[in-house]
Amino acid sequence: MKCVICKSQDIQRKKVEEEIKFGMDIVLVAVEALVCMNCGERYYTTNAMRKIESVRTKLKQKELEVQEVGKVLRAI
Ligand SMILES: [Zn+2]
Repeated sequence: MKCVICKSQDIQRKKVEEEIKFGMDIVLVAVEALVCMNCGERYYTTNAMRKIESVRTKLKQKELEVQEVGKVLRAI
């Protein structure tokens, strides 16, 4: 597989955290993705995309248990 952005072939399977915005909050979802080591572009597997979608749906239905791990801060 080649990176469609930079054409590099250095693509590795990695655990990444995808950020899902939910109102003013950001929810991190750990998924496996193929990451281009040259430009950082991420390619999600079908499983990863399904997981992200299901988290998004559960968030909307307030069915997901989440844990606060940090805060989103805004400079004023
Ligand atoms: Zn690339």
